[in-house]
Amino acid sequence: MGVTERVRFDEKGLVPVVAQDAEDGAVLMVAYADREAVERTLATGEAHYYSRSRGELWRKGQTSGNTQRVVEVRVDCDGDTLLYLVEPRGPACHTGERTCFFATLAGEGVGVSAGRGEDGVGLGAMLERLAGTIAARRRERPEGSYTASLMERGTGYVAQKVGEEAVEVVVAALRGERLAEEAADLVYHLLVLLEERGVGTGEVARVLRDRHR
Ligand code: AMP
Ligand code: ZN
Ligand code: ZN
Ligand code: ZN
Repeated sequence: MGVTERVRFDEKGLVPVVAQDAEDGAVLMVAYADREAVERTLATGEAHYYSRSRGELWRKGQTSGNTQRVVEVRVDCDGDTLLYLVEPRGPACHTGERTCFFATLAGEGVGVSAGRGEDGVGLGAMLERLAGTIAARRRERPEGSYTASLMERGTGYVAQKVGEEAVEVVVAALRGERLAEEAADLVYHLLVLLEERGVGTGEVARVLRDRHR
């Protein structure tokens, strides 16, 4: 019996697939797969889907380069849905967002969950997005970029900025005003410093996770 025998494809030969970031559990996208897409995924470790709009096998990233390395393929209790646990190489969404689920529908009974902005993006996702932009600024050094100019001035300068922003956070907290803005400044400069020193956000996340047990 082939491994895909457990999968109950629908009448069109398709099964919905949820793609989840293997590292932090973020839900990245939902798409469909046919048997061939599932078999190719299992055989190659690269996420394959079936494009209903184009009516063909679709290797994620085939045009954008934003491929997904598949760590594990799970099948749900009754076999009608798959879960790809992936290591994404770039945004999952064709809009350039990390996840397709960046928009929030709010109603009378359901709002926006705590810790998230209007668009449903939380601090963790925002930090990663920002860290990605900062890394790009370092590579490309575009004219007029504040991040690039910070980096031009070197690690000592960036470290000093982090110290200044930390003091501004303290002052804001004691005065009881502008704390979110100053915290954002501190976090941004800290991310620039990490990038300068080649310490990835994943490394910091790992340390936090180990201490959080
Ligand atoms: P890609 O597989 O990233 O090279 O994208 C190829 C095409 O697939 C894009 O032009 C989009 O039309 C479509 N596409 C890519 N990612 C998604 C997604 N997460 N959800 C829906 N369609 C997508
Ligand atoms: Zn099910
Ligand atoms: Zn999308
Ligand atoms: Zn500040």
